[in-house]
Amino acid sequence: MVQRAGYSLMTASDAFQNASNQAAALTFDDGYADNLEVAVPLLQSCGVRGTIYVVADEIGRAKPSWSRQAVEQVDRLLTAAELRQLHQAGWEIGSHCCQHVRLAQLPESVQREELGRSKAMLEDLLGVSVLSLAYPYGEYSPVTERLAAELGYTHAFTTAKRGGSDSAFALKRYSLGGYGLRSVRQVLKLQWALWQRTGFRRHSGGTGT
Ligand SMILES: [Zn+2]
Repeated sequence: MVQRAGYSLMTASDAFQNASNQAAALTFDDGYADNLEVAVPLLQSCGVRGTIYVVADEIGRAKPSWSRQAVEQVDRLLTAAELRQLHQAGWEIGSHCCQHVRLAQLPESVQREELGRSKAMLEDLLGVSVLSLAYPYGEYSPVTERLAAELGYTHAFTTAKRGGSDSAFALKRYSLGGYGLRSVRQVLKLQWALWQRTGFRRHSGGTGT
């Protein structure tokens, strides 16, 4: 559907660096195992690779600690081995912090730990630089944006619901429905970002001050 509209789908970091304003990314937050079981085969069959944002301290857990409705095993989170497998298949793994926290409500030192330690953990696991960040609940503050730039991320996502801005560290995303995937939750998690390269160029690197 997105491709038919003339957009090229790629990982978030590739789309961020792409000169075309027809670049788009499919992103999945939280690192649920059903991303691998449902979304990955579906998208691979279309030649599409996405980006998965992982809560670093929750890798491999039987269920996420931040969701009261979660059911053990049904809602299990991707393991380290599965994340390596996804990385090797060309998917991008980004940070969704160490814990599923509301960054804007935390002191700067704790935000720094959330952004910095999760990045380091994923880099140790995958052996590559982790450049992409998605804020849990889409929540961030000017301090969060500054820290993300200082710590070496190139861009970060919020959600359209939370507003966003022209900054590379407050990129908006939109939720899509109607893909016919097996659960409502899966559909809600299937998000895509479309943006204008001109906005990136104007603002990238300028948010660390
Ligand atoms: Zn999340």
